[in-house]
Amino acid sequence: MITIETSLVQDRLVELIQLQVLYNRLYALQQRKGDLPQQIEDLQDRSVALYRSIQEIEAHIHQLEGDIRTLHVSNDNLRDHEHKLQKTLMSVRNEQEYYKVESDLKETRLTIEKNLKDISRLQHRVEAFRQRHAEEQARLNEIQALIIEKEKLLAEISERTRRQEEALEKRIQALSEHIQREDSRLFRLFDRRRRSLREGRALVSVELLEGREDRVACGGCYTLLPRQLQWELTQRNRIYVCENCGRFLVDAAFFEEVAASMP
Ligand SMILES: [Zn+2]
Repeated sequence: MITIETSLVQDRLVELIQLQVLYNRLYALQQRKGDLPQQIEDLQDRSVALYRSIQEIEAHIHQLEGDIRTLHVSNDNLRDHEHKLQKTLMSVRNEQEYYKVESDLKETRLTIEKNLKDISRLQHRVEAFRQRHAEEQARLNEIQALIIEKEKLLAEISERTRRQEEALEKRIQALSEHIQREDSRLFRLFDRRRRSLREGRALVSVELLEGREDRVACGGCYTLLPRQLQWELTQRNRIYVCENCGRFLVDAAFFEEVAASMP
């Protein structure tokens, strides 16, 4: 088993247990916020993406409406031209001229027809874009309302827990400084472990296994450890560390005893 050398082992163990209990309380408080911060962040990402998409749709609509206006102007000019040609047709002097004017007239009418078809096609596209615009805008409004709702909830929870968190952080700070003064190496080992582990559980108690007389388990990673360790931990004269996960190990009764004595 890996042990850590220090003086006044029992005092240090009590302090490390106290520090862990404070961290456990702080973590439990932070858990009350659940995944709300993450949910809000995800919704904000979706809202930004939707906003961009809506802006792109607006740019498309703007472009298409410009094209439609151009076609209308073009048709107005073509209709003027058509009227002039119709008048000219009345006063042609020969067949050749008649044929020329008539073919121009035909060409002009075909172009007007083609433009009208283009206008109708473009208007359909504008309608489709407007439909998508309305749908995405509605979804964006929904998401933004949801963000406001969740932010309000998070603010309420934060407000309720803020004072408790601050009080815990102060106690953690004071206790950390004390341990650091007593044994800075021990504190560094503990703190490094805490920072690297999920939920910051750098110190755990060993767990008894049903039906296993010869083994106990690390309460952090559940690696099996010799039963002898259980007895050694009750002696409280050495600091043991799990060989697998590096967590500090104490016996469960000791942990409970210290936790129960804390305000
Ligand atoms: Zn372990």
